[in-house]
Amino acid sequence: MNPPRIHLAQLPTPLVCMERLSRELGGPRIWLKRDDLTESAASGNKLRKLEYSIGEALTQEASVLITAGGVQSNHCRATAIMAARLGLKSHLVLRGKPPSSTDGNLLLDTLAGAEITFATRDEFQNLEDQFLRIADEYRSRGDMPFIIPIGASDEIGLWGYIECARELKKDFDYQTINPGYVISAAGSGGTLGGLILGNYLHALDTNIVAFNVCDDEAWFKQKISTDIEHWQQRYKSIVPKIPVNELAINIIDGYVGPGYARADQHVYDTIKRIARTEGIFFDPVYTGKAFDAMLQEYSNGRFDDTRDIVFIHTGGIYGLFPEREQFINETIAES
Ligand SMILES: *Cc1c(COP(=O)(O)O)cnc(C)c1O
Repeated sequence: MNPPRIHLAQLPTPLVCMERLSRELGGPRIWLKRDDLTESAASGNKLRKLEYSIGEALTQEASVLITAGGVQSNHCRATAIMAARLGLKSHLVLRGKPPSSTDGNLLLDTLAGAEITFATRDEFQNLEDQFLRIADEYRSRGDMPFIIPIGASDEIGLWGYIECARELKKDFDYQTINPGYVISAAGSGGTLGGLILGNYLHALDTNIVAFNVCDDEAWFKQKISTDIEHWQQRYKSIVPKIPVNELAINIIDGYVGPGYARADQHVYDTIKRIARTEGIFFDPVYTGKAFDAMLQEYSNGRFDDTRDIVFIHTGGIYGLFPEREQFINETIAES
């Protein structure tokens, strides 16, 4: 038996070697798992998780998907687009004030017809209350709401990256590589949690490592072990018993910088470097910050005990546009 799932993502995504960058760096080869190619406008890691969250919503005959995130949330954008694709409504709770311009992900949310509630930091602290209030409103109008947590990171969404690990196993066999590390950004923990479980279930035999872009190591360890315990509980009739305490949750803390969705110039420089060297675009909130952190650890020799490392490109390109000033100013200064 399998958990409910609806196929939304273009899978499998490619695993490609960053040839020029790896040569420039001279250490282990860096490969990218192109999860930025899971779709077009709806692309990124969230789509893998939403296959299960929305799969579950459909078994409950939901007519509206309610979720939350930052103003430039990739997860909210993917949810809004997939709701439209499936003939459902979407309602997003976004943290912060309505911005002066409707840019990046927020533009796509709006075009896809999402209902949007902006929540102050305090209101966002009580997100559960917000969710319940909005769900009640929909119910009173005859709709069937389904709440998806931030980042679709819960025991349901975990399946997305458990299945990605299965895909990676095939990628490694096909490329005849045995990477010592599979690396990603961690924001709400579902990608890392799923990869950790998948590494165990599908015997990837690698180290799963993530750079947190918000909060800290303790928060992620708590969040991920809770999600895994809930997963074990919810699916106990279809999954083997996992020694949860023996699963390593490897978070490399210390690269959050000025804060969530705020980056140092170093991150912008790395984004520019990768765009020019490889024609690949990272975003300032997740992939650019984590990749920049990975390069720093790389040059300190952290990954020298292996020949290949894999970075999961989790998407996020629309997050570049609202940060255009960070790139434009520099270009003017150069000329
Ligand atoms: C959400 C997101 C992440 C983080 O994934 P989590 O599962 O929330 O930890 C990384 N990269 C991008 C582009 C994202 O949108």
